[in-house]
Amino acid sequence: MKPISRSFLHAQEAIGVGTPEVESLLSYFCRLAVSHAVSTADLARLVVKHIDHDIRQDFEWQQRNLSGISESARNWAAWLAAATGVERLDLLTLTNWSSFLPAKGLSPRRSHWCPHCLAEDRKAGNQPYFRLSWEIGPVEACHRHKVQLVDTCPHCGRRHVRHDAGIVLPGWCTQCGGFLGDADAPSATPGQLWVARQVGQWIASQTPAADFADSVSVTETLNTLILGLDGGQPSRFAKRIGLAKSTVHGWLRDGNLPTIQAYLAMAAHSGLSLNQVMRGELTTWAPNTPDAQIALPFDLSRKAAKAAPRQLDWDAIKRELETMLKLPEPISVAEAGRRLDIDDRHLYLRANALARALGEKWKRFQDSQKAIHRDALRTHLQDALPELMEAGLPFNLTQLRHAVPAKVLNAVEGAFDVIREVRDELDVA
Ligand SMILES: [Zn+2]
Ligand SMILES: [Zn+2]
Repeated sequence: MKPISRSFLHAQEAIGVGTPEVESLLSYFCRLAVSHAVSTADLARLVVKHIDHDIRQDFEWQQRNLSGISESARNWAAWLAAATGVERLDLLTLTNWSSFLPAKGLSPRRSHWCPHCLAEDRKAGNQPYFRLSWEIGPVEACHRHKVQLVDTCPHCGRRHVRHDAGIVLPGWCTQCGGFLGDADAPSATPGQLWVARQVGQWIASQTPAADFADSVSVTETLNTLILGLDGGQPSRFAKRIGLAKSTVHGWLRDGNLPTIQAYLAMAAHSGLSLNQVMRGELTTWAPNTPDAQIALPFDLSRKAAKAAPRQLDWDAIKRELETMLKLPEPISVAEAGRRLDIDDRHLYLRANALARALGEKWKRFQDSQKAIHRDALRTHLQDALPELMEAGLPFNLTQLRHAVPAKVLNAVEGAFDVIREVRDELDVA
């Protein structure tokens, strides 16, 4: 029997969590494939096969979305956590921000990199890796090295060579094998550097201890900004940040979410950081031109359009999971999630060892149940088949439904294999 504590894949550590240089999940995935000496496609298949007892089975391998806020990023963070035993792989994605940001505008148009970052990794004797910031739409520069990100291999001159292949060794061209850190990169503009710095600080705020549920609602943040900057007038505010009036109205009235570009514009105009605007940390914010007269009639009651996210007590959840683990009748991780009213994927990300123990126990239980059901069917068939043979009746499903209780027959997947086995045995005998 496989020990519960051992993970199915290497417990590979994620790089740079809690810093602007945090690794992307795409990078983590590629490095993991390398460490197991398999292609990315094979690793994807292995992982999906491994988790099929527990989490949804929708197989998908979309490299581009792996580090963003999509469902596929959310799934892969959880599945890889389940397979490696490494918690909080969600921090290598932006999935924690899905109630703040739309997917629109979040993916970069190119697969690009900072050659200096890769060269620095290599020089330090570390494994080169892709940064999460490179997967974020508006980022076009490396703030650390003050250069623009590049997307062309310096050796073969081709593009789409960073990770678009079956075998990816992060840092080396997927076409010619040349080192991507050898590329020249032009200096970044001050605007590009500002964006890179804002995004870097923001993703550095994703630490295992960071509480995303503390953030106030987007509507509340918008109202405070519009009030502070433009006396509560959405149309003036829209003009200020360079957007259509209807866009700002859509945020306020219909609950649409501002794109990351819009959040950056708001940060630029308010003097706040992107992280503060995203998290709604505006309590100490003093706008330059506050207008108390206009501010007073502002309707505060409409602020909390979105319910505040639920605060989860992970210590209590872990205690619940421990209790569930001791249940005489094992339950799946999905079922544990339902009982706790938590997305089961979060259980792998925040309570990894317990979730995996639960998953293993469930899997063993499922396997033993399968064996019991097959044996039961076998016994029924051994009784029923000789009679059918004697009567010259065919062994089709209609005949068998008369002879074997439906409950026994339906409990077995691939019942025909069992039927064939028993028939062959009887034929021989
Ligand atoms: Zn760099
Ligand atoms: Zn190349």
